[in-house]
Amino acid sequence: MRIWICSFLLCGYAQWALAQDQPAPDVTGPAPEATTPPAETPPAAAPQETALRVEHVAGNVYMLEGKGGNIGVSVGPDGLLMVDDQFASESEQIQQALAALGKGTVKYVLNTHWHRDHTEGNQVFGLAAPVIAHTQVRKRLEVEKYVPEALPVITYENAVSVHFNGEEIRVIHVTDGHTDGDSIVYFVNSNVLHLGDQFFSGRLPFIDLDSGGSVEGYLENVSEILGQAPPDVLIIPGHGPLSTVTELKDFETMLTETIKLVQSQIRNGKKLDAIQEAGLPAPWSTWAWEFIDEDKYLEILFNGLTKGRRRTAPTAMPQVPAAQRPLKLIR
Ligand SMILES: [Zn+2]
Repeated sequence: MRIWICSFLLCGYAQWALAQDQPAPDVTGPAPEATTPPAETPPAAAPQETALRVEHVAGNVYMLEGKGGNIGVSVGPDGLLMVDDQFASESEQIQQALAALGKGTVKYVLNTHWHRDHTEGNQVFGLAAPVIAHTQVRKRLEVEKYVPEALPVITYENAVSVHFNGEEIRVIHVTDGHTDGDSIVYFVNSNVLHLGDQFFSGRLPFIDLDSGGSVEGYLENVSEILGQAPPDVLIIPGHGPLSTVTELKDFETMLTETIKLVQSQIRNGKKLDAIQEAGLPAPWSTWAWEFIDEDKYLEILFNGLTKGRRRTAPTAMPQVPAAQRPLKLIR
């Protein structure tokens, strides 16, 4: 089942910039850390049109792909449960799409991490439904200019399950990845994973070092998920099309090879500008997109690999050895 809802952007880069995976520039208050800004050069041609596409994934689960991070929705007799809710500016479109599914109101909102393109809609959907997220998500959203109702009201350190629409929906924290507060979501009976921004399908990823993300931890998380994911699971990435284990393995290969490449260049004494000059080899150079181009990705890898596992100190999370992490997908 696919539904297309289109809207037209009124201006170019300002709208484009708002659509990126970063906090708004007017954040005030004791922000934990500033997020790395996007590439300085705007794209040659800003997108003129965005579409919100609704796709049935499997079982109870639908995927909404639009201007921000991908949304997962559980639809059934209990109502609706959303995983992430994109930008507030998109909420009307999203509400129309949800209404077209015809299955009641939103009962819960889960946030995979704090970035605005995944949580800004909390300001709309959080008014009627409790938001559930990792403790770090609430801490980071407390410094955003969100209405109070947009903050997570149920938080967890390691994992939590929501029993909804006849299945267990496992929300599992993965440490030191895209940020320090990421979760993945497994719909057990539907056999669907929502990986948030732990997975950019077919695209170079953003790793938010200034929000406690880690280059090596990001790859470790992907490998750990691959080691536990059922082979026939369908995967909603944070950005990119609906995927399978095949695309996640490709993503792991890309991360592994590009990280090894930059590690080797660093050992040989190369500076960032020389690494950027050399660029990425094929086929990974084709994974660049308007938000993360080759230079930006190589800068993330360089900074992440030269400045330690974390660029900034964690705010609260303890260091958890991989073997003790709570990730457990399979029953
Ligand atoms: Zn993100």
